Amino acid sequence: MTDPRILVLGTGGTIAGRAASSTGKAYAAGEVPLDTMLGEIRALGLEAELLPKAVARIGSQDIGWTEWDALHREITVAQDDTGVDGIIVTHGTDTAEETAYLLDLTLAAGKPVVLVGAMRPADAVGSDGMRNFANAVRVAGDPNAAGRGVMVVMGDTVFAAADVRKAATASVDAFRGFPRGPLARVTPSSLDWFAPPHRTAQPPRFAWPEALPRVAILTAGAGMDSKPVEALLGIGCKGIVIAGMGQGNAPRVVLDALEAAVDAGVPVVRSSRVDEGMVDRNVEVDDDARGFVAARALGPAKARILLMVLIANGVTDPAAIQAAFDQP
Ligand code: ASP
Repeated sequence: MTDPRILVLGTGGTIAGRAASSTGKAYAAGEVPLDTMLGEIRALGLEAELLPKAVARIGSQDIGWTEWDALHREITVAQDDTGVDGIIVTHGTDTAEETAYLLDLTLAAGKPVVLVGAMRPADAVGSDGMRNFANAVRVAGDPNAAGRGVMVVMGDTVFAAADVRKAATASVDAFRGFPRGPLARVTPSSLDWFAPPHRTAQPPRFAWPEALPRVAILTAGAGMDSKPVEALLGIGCKGIVIAGMGQGNAPRVVLDALEAAVDAGVPVVRSSRVDEGMVDRNVEVDDDARGFVAARALGPAKARILLMVLIANGVTDPAAIQAAFDQP
């Protein structure tokens, strides 16, 4: 059997980070060139042929349309290329869930697409980057990884893009899955899938847009007034995601201002600032009366991505938006 050929798209992040000292806390993301990283990975003797392509060398806090558009284009081409078996995207961890989910919504569920990052820079004591990268090579090179949508590999765990989120700021074990747990456990020498592929041959859920609209996340806080909502409308937001208290709640004056936004044609999605849990319709907030959408299992960051994709695809009716959020 020949080794799998894996396209590696580099974007930067801590996995390519370099520190002034291997024990200090300050470092810069995206400093290590992709070729250098791949040299180290090849030296591990993994059974895969790695094909590098640098897309960016940035911290993922700076990622946006330019890089997303390039990633989507490169992956679409690679999915049709018989010389490529799987795709890895090296990525910062801060926004990995956003890039992964955006690609997941807009790519066919074909060959494995795996985002991988690290919590510690490449030259830090106890760096996790090479381990995570070796794990990603194992996943991207496994024919059984196809038909599962975009995945994120971190800390010996494989997550589906729709479920994954960063849940800790600095620990190596920083990622969690909700509402589903991990898809698989992985090490450089083993890979155990917990279920068969669930999206085999599915086409893209949404068309790749020509641009993404301005959609803001507004975090609710005790004692806040309606001014932040008015400010967001004032800068031309096309949609608002409220990171609400508890089950997506907010002070009455804020809910009233958000209802006025809906009346003005700006969709509003209620998610939660709480780390984990569902936001369902009509629990304490009367979504039917106010015209809001409940984010269900999606946290604020992913709710914003889905709302941007929907608006870009011409979906602005609250009922149609709710149907998209209801789809697991
Ligand atoms: N700020 C970094 C980034 O997201 C953090 C990391 O990669 O862990 O690029």
